[in-house]
Amino acid sequence: MKDKVVVLKCESYSEDLIYEKLKRGIELLDLKNIPEKILLKPNMLSARNPNEGVTTHPTLISGLIKIFENKKLIIGDSPANALKPIEEYWENCGYLEISKKYNVELKKFDDFLIIDLNVNGKKCKIPVTKLIKEYKVLNIPKFKTHNLTTLTIGIKNLYGLIPGMTKSILHSKFINPYDFSSFLIEFYKEIEKNIFLTVVDAIIIMEGDGPSSGELRKAGYIIIGESPVYVDYFCCLLASINPENIDFIKIYKEKYKLKEPEIIGDNFEVLKNFKLPSTKKYFLIKNKFFSKLLLPISKFFKIIPVINLQKCKKCYSCVNVCPVKSISKNLKFDRKKCILCFCCFEVCPYKAIKIKKSLIAKILT
Ligand code: SF4
Ligand code: SF4
Repeated sequence: MKDKVVVLKCESYSEDLIYEKLKRGIELLDLKNIPEKILLKPNMLSARNPNEGVTTHPTLISGLIKIFENKKLIIGDSPANALKPIEEYWENCGYLEISKKYNVELKKFDDFLIIDLNVNGKKCKIPVTKLIKEYKVLNIPKFKTHNLTTLTIGIKNLYGLIPGMTKSILHSKFINPYDFSSFLIEFYKEIEKNIFLTVVDAIIIMEGDGPSSGELRKAGYIIIGESPVYVDYFCCLLASINPENIDFIKIYKEKYKLKEPEIIGDNFEVLKNFKLPSTKKYFLIKNKFFSKLLLPISKFFKIIPVINLQKCKKCYSCVNVCPVKSISKNLKFDRKKCILCFCCFEVCPYKAIKIKKSLIAKILT
């Protein structure tokens, strides 16, 4: 059943332990149709070491390779930062080692097909890796917070099927968090039939200002489900978040209906005092009250990305990724152009970009 979510306690990234847990989880899920060709799709946001908690840990991939060893498997994801060669990501994230050890090919998302989407009346043509025509996606997200969408887990990880820079360009078409979440849901619905399974790395999770600079926290779970929506719904419950406070879940529920997931497997304890991104309240206030109550103070109610020049290594990934060219070559921001998509914040490999709030924003959020 699509609404079934399996929860597995898992204390560490030990390969043997993870394999055992995944095996039990897949048995509990009692999958009826396992595809012959599977694309293992981790979160490869940044070319960082797995211990930094930004990317899916490679032991989940190796565990899944062992479980589905009699199938035709490939590994792939497409990071937004086009300046770095993808080989650097494969190596630093630990996927190259897995690929060699188990003889599973790493794939680039070079070729794409076009899908037509209608997001709240806005029609667009979206490139998606051609691999989904041949392979079903085994979605392997990392449990993290996200400054724009609050959480990035099952649904948001599928955004990586869109090749390279298109991802940041799309932010300039769907600017506010609600519109962007609507896009995520329509994109998911269009490719839903291509998604086989979602397996979440929630052993070490990220809270606070994710998805690349937040704080790491041990949660100790692997979460598995056929539907990334139900998986994300459960993850909200785990983090003590009302799922309806997450735009993409709310949008899905209103348009496509959603019930409570059927939770099976191990007992779980709610993660106490889970830290949401510092931008969450800002967007809530801005979207709900600005048109009426707070308009007179709107120009004082601001958040902006700022560069810490002591940490900055001048790699220019932020300049390259900005969809509205709001960062100049000498690393100065054009505040009027900035659409607060946080792509720069997300791709900075050195945690050199921070979110700065105006005094009123600090007081109100
Ligand atoms: S400066 Fe950063 S947050 Fe602003 S639009 Fe560019 S990438 Fe997005
Ligand atoms: S702020 Fe980060 S991404 Fe931008 S140039 Fe500096 S180190 Fe690179």
